[in-house]
Amino acid sequence: MAFTVSLTGKTAIITGSNSGIGLGVARQLAAAGADVVLNSFTDRPEDHALAADIAAEFGVTARYIRADMSKGEDCRALITQAGRCDILVNNAGIQHVAPIDEFPVEKWDAVIAINLSSAFHTTAVALPMMRAAGWGRVINIASAHGLTASPYKSAYVAAKHGIVGMTKVVALETAEEPITCNAICPGYVLTPLVEAQIPDTMAKYNMSRDEVIKKVMLERQPSREFATVGQLGDTTVFLCSDAAAQITGIALSVDGGWTAM
Ligand code: NAD
Repeated sequence: MAFTVSLTGKTAIITGSNSGIGLGVARQLAAAGADVVLNSFTDRPEDHALAADIAAEFGVTARYIRADMSKGEDCRALITQAGRCDILVNNAGIQHVAPIDEFPVEKWDAVIAINLSSAFHTTAVALPMMRAAGWGRVINIASAHGLTASPYKSAYVAAKHGIVGMTKVVALETAEEPITCNAICPGYVLTPLVEAQIPDTMAKYNMSRDEVIKKVMLERQPSREFATVGQLGDTTVFLCSDAAAQITGIALSVDGGWTAM
């Protein structure tokens, strides 16, 4: 029998979901029947159009709510404004790369706020809604950098290790309730942002597209394949399924073997 998951009647809020992994996760949750709330810090017609496209394609309710995940009050207002939250996907994230002694303080603060503190604020407001509804799923999009480190990524690695730790705490605080909290730890994922870097890198190293992907980008990913936004979306849907009801507090790697090394 095929493995199917129905999320009809559930409302999913996905932070940072007007592109990349967040958008892919929102689409897969909608495909499984969930009503979705998209988010980012902009308020452009194309942001709202993404929600309209999902509603039309999957026959669910889809909304876009602007909220800046670097601001605690915005994070809390996102959940309150949505009015209901059965599935919370904390996905918003940014990166900054610099040696620690040159790392700009404002970049450190922004990475920690968006990649870590936002999940504290959204989870704090969403959990009472999940308790009232008698069911809930919190899914934190961490990273292979939540389990391992790279030089020059102090803020990102600290935030991602932090969110893996917070995932375990929320799992323990909800362990006796029909609520789970898990982290997904992607390796390198082919998002439009990554795709856009390929032509420049090809020119810089005089390499083919395949060489850039396998020798430069995926040097640490033993499969030498990107994970895809579709795979991350399906992994999220799985964590929302009844099959995953006893999976809580884990860091689930989707990284082609990166953290096995
Ligand atoms: P992306 O840049 O396409 O997506 C990031 C999303 O966060 C965007 O929708 C952006 O608008 C949003 N965002 C940024 N700042 C925000 C703010 N202040 N308020 C609200 N939203 C904000 O990148 P992505 O690759 O899709 O990354 C999504 C998540 O996945 C991040 O947490 C990232 O750390 C994680 N991740 C990505 C990869 C990868 O290889 N792409 C690997 C591991 C983990």
